[in-house]
Amino acid sequence: MIGTLYIVSAPSGAGKTSLVKALVDTVPGLSISVSHTTRPRRDGERDGIDYHFVGAETFRDMIAAGDFLEHAEVFGNAYGTAISAVQRQLTAGTDVILEIDWQGAQQVRQAMPECVSIFVLPPSRQELDRRLRERGKDPEEVIARRMREAVNEMSHYDEYDYLVVNDAFGHALDELVSIVRTRRLRLVAQRERLAGTLADLLA
Ligand code: GDP
Ligand code: ADP
Ligand code: 5GP
Repeated sequence: MIGTLYIVSAPSGAGKTSLVKALVDTVPGLSISVSHTTRPRRDGERDGIDYHFVGAETFRDMIAAGDFLEHAEVFGNAYGTAISAVQRQLTAGTDVILEIDWQGAQQVRQAMPECVSIFVLPPSRQELDRRLRERGKDPEEVIARRMREAVNEMSHYDEYDYLVVNDAFGHALDELVSIVRTRRLRLVAQRERLAGTLADLLA
């Protein structure tokens, strides 16, 4: 059985990393794709777990080798999703979540139109600003740049299948869980999962 590919996008600081981590802890059979990036590692981030941290030259080589499902420049750094791990997991029947920006989302929709995309909005501009600062992991000029670019990122909300507002964290998490659970109940998925039961019922 083939897994579902989910895309989650949001302006920086909206809470998508926290939400997606909580989502995979709540729903079995879901995994997060680990992106490659040239951005410097934040305090507390682990190579190979939060990101594969690579140099610009390695990143260019990977583009040339066709290793990426999608890649884009975001806030002056390169980010990309390697195709191999995603394909392997989808083929094994695991659902995979990509936490990527709107440019990457457009590329993935082209390559895999059956993907499901979700845009996470903050409850307000003021709260987004507060969360970016509260996270305390980026220098002031990086925070200022991310705030400036938030409106551009959010202007792409209408390209997504689902919109979730991350106001109360638990409520937003419930909504993400609903999307994944509902998706798994679709006829095409259930017909395969329930093949034995259906055969017995209809015999
Ligand atoms: P954070 O999202 O605020 O924690 O900051 P990051 O530096 O981790 O990510 C910055 C932006 O890059 C976010 O908008 C992500 O969605 C995007 N991003 C992360 N990984 C990828 C990727 O593999 N491909 C693309 N296209 N965008 C990515
Ligand atoms: P992103 O991955 O979208 O940049 P993060 O998951 O790093 O966002 O969240 C940014 C900050 O906001 C973090 O400090 C996180 O703890 C906090 N946060 C996330 N969701 C909520 C929420 N619903 N209410 C308040 N703070 C939140
Ligand atoms: P994790 O999923 O790794 O436990 O959470 C990552 C971050 O999200 C933590 O810093 C945590 O404080 C934050 N977070 C998760 N839920 C909430 C919430 O309901 N409110 C706030 N303010 N932060 C939250």
